[in-house]
Order: sequence, then C-alpha cells, then structure tokens
Amino acid sequence: MINKTIQEKDMQVKNTAVLQVQDLTVTYDTKAGPLDTVRNISLKIHAGEIYGLVGESGSGKSTLARGIVRYLPSNGRISSGTVLLSDMDLMKLPAAEMRRIWGAKITMVHQDPGAAVNPSLPVGEQIAEVARVHLHLSKAEARDKAVDMLTKVRMPDPESVMKRYAHQLSGGMLQRILIATAMVTSPQLIIMDEPTTALDVTTEAVILDLINELMKDFNTSILYITHNLGVVARMCDRVGVMYAGELMEEGTIRQVFKNKLHPYTRGLLGCVPRIEASKRDVSLSSIPGFIPRPDQLPTGCIFAPRCSLAEEACQVCRPPRVEAGTEHFTACRRWEELQLKPELFMNGQQSREGSERKEGPLVLEARNMKKYFPVSGGLSSLWRRGPTDVKAVDDISIRVRGGFTMGIVGESGCGKTTFARCISGLEEATSGEIMLEGQRLPKALLKRLPSQLKKIQMVFQNPDASLNPQHPVGESVARPLILLGKLSPKEVQERLLELFRAVNLPEDYMRRLPHELSGGEKQRVAIARAFASDPTLMICDEPIASLDVSVQAALMNMLVKLQESKGTSYLFISHDLAAVRYLSDWIAVVYLGRLWEVGSAEDVFMPPCHPYTEALLSAIPIPDPDLQQERIRLLGSVPSAVNIPPGCRFHTRCPRKLGKICEEQEPSWQEVNEFHSICCHIPLDELKILQGAGSIRQADNPGEVSRC
Ligand code: SF4
Ligand code: SF4
Repeated sequence: MINKTIQEKDMQVKNTAVLQVQDLTVTYDTKAGPLDTVRNISLKIHAGEIYGLVGESGSGKSTLARGIVRYLPSNGRISSGTVLLSDMDLMKLPAAEMRRIWGAKITMVHQDPGAAVNPSLPVGEQIAEVARVHLHLSKAEARDKAVDMLTKVRMPDPESVMKRYAHQLSGGMLQRILIATAMVTSPQLIIMDEPTTALDVTTEAVILDLINELMKDFNTSILYITHNLGVVARMCDRVGVMYAGELMEEGTIRQVFKNKLHPYTRGLLGCVPRIEASKRDVSLSSIPGFIPRPDQLPTGCIFAPRCSLAEEACQVCRPPRVEAGTEHFTACRRWEELQLKPELFMNGQQSREGSERKEGPLVLEARNMKKYFPVSGGLSSLWRRGPTDVKAVDDISIRVRGGFTMGIVGESGCGKTTFARCISGLEEATSGEIMLEGQRLPKALLKRLPSQLKKIQMVFQNPDASLNPQHPVGESVARPLILLGKLSPKEVQERLLELFRAVNLPEDYMRRLPHELSGGEKQRVAIARAFASDPTLMICDEPIASLDVSVQAALMNMLVKLQESKGTSYLFISHDLAAVRYLSDWIAVVYLGRLWEVGSAEDVFMPPCHPYTEALLSAIPIPDPDLQQERIRLLGSVPSAVNIPPGCRFHTRCPRKLGKICEEQEPSWQEVNEFHSICCHIPLDELKILQGAGSIRQADNPGEVSRC
C-alpha cells in the first residue's frame, strides 16, 4: 500500500513536471473541412503522479492522449500548441526520433489487452522485443529482463508464461502482460486508456493495486483515461474533466470531488449511484442531451445546451479558464456562486419520498435450477476421463416478488447469465422447476405458450441484439405487440406511442433505423420493446454496462419509474455493484454456478456477509476520496466449472478460508435473519467480528486517505 498522503505527495512532486501541454489543438481534416476536435488544452503531469482524464464518450480524452504522443490517424494533426516531455519539445522532433520516444520514454496500455497483444507470438517474446529494441540488450539479456518484468507484475510462474500465447491467458493476465511491456523500459510517462474497463471488478482491483505499486517503484507518471469516476478517486492525484474537446475543470482529487466548481463535474458525479444509495431514497441526476459534434459547437459556453444553470450571458461568449483555488481550474463563469451556494443548484441526486412499497405476490420461483453443458473437446473428448460437463448453473433457487427487483451479482463466468437465460427459456435447463405466478413453465422456449412467452422479456447488454438493423426501430417494438398482443393496427399505433413516451423518446424516432440512434437511445428502444407485451418479469442482463454514466443514470431512473407504474419485477444482472445496490430490493450472490448469499440489498451490503460478497464489495471503485475500503483481493480467476473444487467451491480463493474443513466439506446455510442467509463454515457472530464496520466506511481523517 502506498502510505504517502495526498498532501505529502503533492509537496514532493511540486515543480517537477514530466509532461507540460500548452494550448494543444488537434485537428482532423474531413470532407467537410478541418475540424478542431480537441482545443486549447493545457495541463501538467508531475513526476510520480497519476493524472486522471474523465468525461463522457466523445469528450476527446483519447484524441488528446494520441495528440500528446503524436500518434494520430493520417487525417489528424496538431494544429497548435506545445508538448514538453521534461525539456524535450515533442512537436519539433522528427518522425524517426518520435518513434524512438514511443516505447522508450512514453508507452501506452490499452483497454482491450486481447487486441493489443500479438496472438501469433509468445507473450514473453513480445516483452523481450521491446527491451531489445529500446534498451539495446542482447537476446539473452532481453529474455531475462522479460522474466524479471513478469515477476514484478506478479505473474504466477513467469518462466512458463513466457512461452504462452495470448489465447492461453485470462483477461487479467493479459493486462499484466501489457503493463509489463509498458514498464520494461522504465518510461517517464505511461498513457493508460481505460486499462481495466474490460475486466471484472475483482480483477480490476488487483490490477489497480499493481499499477500503483509499480508506479512507485519505477517513479513513472501516468495519464489515466477512464470514464469510471470511482477508479479516478481511487487511483489519481489530480484529475481533468473533459467535455467536447475542452477541459472544464481541473484540480486535485479532493478539489474536484469535494468542491466541484463546474456543473458538468457536478452532473457526472450526480449520475453515479453512491454505494449506500437505493432507488427508494434518491433518484439519480442525469445530464440531458448529448455532447455536441465539433462542427456544431455552440458559440458561448459549449456546455450551455445541457447546463441547468445556463443564463443568457453563458450563450454569448466562451467562459475563460480561471484559477479558483491553488491549481484548481474551472471554465464556468458562475463558479463563485457554485462555491458559495452549492445548495442552490439542485442537480445532484435528489431524495425521494413515498416510494416505499409493499411486497407483492410471488411472481417467480426457480427451484434447484441446473444447466450442464457437455464438454466438447474435439477428438480428445473421445478418450477424456473424469468430469464431462460444464456445470454452469448447479442448483440455484430464487424467489422474486411482484414489483420488486432481484439483483444477481458475481464475476464473469460465475453462471449468472446462464441462469437468467434458463429462466427466459433461451437455454433449456438441465433440471429444476420454474414457476411463474404459480404456474409451472416448460424449460424449453418452444414449448412455452404465447401467453407465457409474453410474461418474461429480456433486455441485453448490447441493444443491437434485439433490433433489426434493416428495420425502423418502431417496427421492432411493434413486432411483439402484433405477435403476442394480437392488437389491431390502430391499437398497435397507440401502444407504440405510449411506449415511446414511457422511455422518453420522441415519436419521430419510430421511423429511424438503429444506426441513426445513440447507444443509450437504442437501449431505450430495447426496453420499450421488452415492455411491449406488458411482462410480469423483465430480465435485464448488464443493460447499462456499455453506456456512459449520464446515460446509465437516465436509464436507471427510467427503469425505476416503469417498475413503479407497471409493477413489473426485474431480475437485474450486473457486475456493477453500486448499480445493483441502487436498483435491487433483494440481492443474490453467485459463484461457480451456486448461490452463496441471498438477502435484502441493505443486509447483503452490511456485515456479516459472505467472504465472497465481502471481497466484491471491497473491490468496488467508489467515487468518494473520503471513503476508506478494506483491501481484500481475490487472486486468480473463477475456477473451471468442469473441475469444481471440492468442499466449499470458493476455498481456492477465499481470503477467510478456515482450513481443511473448507477444502473437504460443503458449508451449510446459516440464517442471519428471516430474509438473509449465508452459506459458509464461519459462524455468523465470528464473521461479523471479522468484518468489523464493513469493507467500506468513512475515513477517520478525510483528505488523508491513502490511494489503494
Ligand atoms: S458558463 Fe454558464 S452554461 Fe457554462 S457551465 Fe457555467 S453556468 Fe453552465
Ligand atoms: S466456507 Fe470456508 S472457504 Fe468457503 S467462504 Fe466460508 S470460509 Fe471461505
């Protein structure tokens, strides 16, 4: 753990800027003429500092990063500004010299390690090659250096990993390979572009710890691009908030998170559910509208069309960047009012009243559900001994009541999606029983009656999966109305209007094709389509995972509203625990095909909770620099569902494992209260003592919270 406080670190890094960007403008030459996509950006990154760059998709974060290192596509160029790396002006370097800088002094870590690692070369060779080229080492020395780097990124068995190919490694291991490659030359600056976005929350936490530790050892500076404000609060020293190609606010983490002086920053932070927030208590704020295109920028403040505080003067001229506090910059002309009277600007999360609801009748009861897939290993399966099934779902039972949400959490590969697909009939369960409103449902979709089909609908992560790219989206929504609702054309039209209004889409959107809609709009259409048949149960499988925080908040608010007005029950699957906590009344925790904890959302997030839940909670990146988290890390990934560990399935990774009993005996369920149960060998009172005040709590000395 890095023990330096933010203040100590600030003092050390003062006046030692590794990177200085001054008035940088990046221009793309398009058919319509030159477009300035990033304009007049100035920032500094000090030695040993992590500088976070946040903003919605399209805000220009990645373009800025590419501009800084002059790694732009052929139609992109730096039209003005300077970039100094230490004292070297990168804009004046010849292309050949710049190529030497890439890899030696500035390196990059990308979001998708699968795409960034060469699939046809052993990973060790790829690290060694960078060392050979940039450090001028011999082949043998470069190989030793690569092994050394793999050890430093704590790769288990580095010698054997050296020989492996990308497809033989997990996402977390591949990200370690990228980090090892980026650090092998001890660069001055590493640009990390969403390096953990594609990872599970538990793997993400391990990688973030690793980055922090290595950065300290190598004294490297990092430009950390992310849309995840929790990751920024956990990792960064300072942060810049970008919008439509410009910096809106910049400062230390505490300045920007605790004394936000730009409505856009306030809006972004208001979109993220706080970890203790529930739909019953607060509604999330969302930022209306979209980022303007570079050729359609407003003349005044570029945020004015979406700003609830915009006044006439804002529309007239672009607000200058002002220093509101020591190195705390904002580009809002009303920043002083924001500072003095933050309560006047109620665009944060709003408390709700009267949303308490009584439990409805039982809607879904899934009993002892199992889904086994036969292992298909080509010829080798002919002489395979031992287990022959992937036990994706292995005896899960849950109950969901009317108008309530059951959240299902767990890492990728734990079986939550397969379970949901069995309920929907998209997968035929191997065994078990599904009761919907007291009626037994056939396991196979084809055997279900139309009246049963319309009662369960599904919303997927990728809305394109439920929309026909060739047909106007109105047709896609009308289809279930015609097939399952048996309505007349006039009634279909009326229902369509009603549905589009319910998901806040203008009527004329019905005639648009999917590619004419943004990701959030497409997901609204998918939700409208799912609601078309008035389902009793809606299964939402990571419906907000690929969207910006502002769109996520708007969709979560909409799901809450629709649930309240229609009384629909949700099965909400997500790896985003804050979103699950916010939307769910009940939470089920799944690991390796089994349920380990089930209870009300409040209970599951409080001690005592299952050691797996505890680890998941401690890994959540929380967008509050004053909250302290226990550092419980799960090493490795979920074991194969073919060779399930004996005893407690979680024992191979459990940080609280007792010993032989966990390895040999399956634990039994213990009741915390009438509604909350945990499956673990540790007695509940002991678990409660071990977990103390919980894995997330207010820091004793706010402002002196150690990073990671
Ligand atoms: S300058 Fe005006 S429109 Fe722009 S962010 Fe500030 S208040 Fe909003
Ligand atoms: S039974 Fe043992 S291994 Fe399993 S969760 Fe409890 S302590 Fe951990």
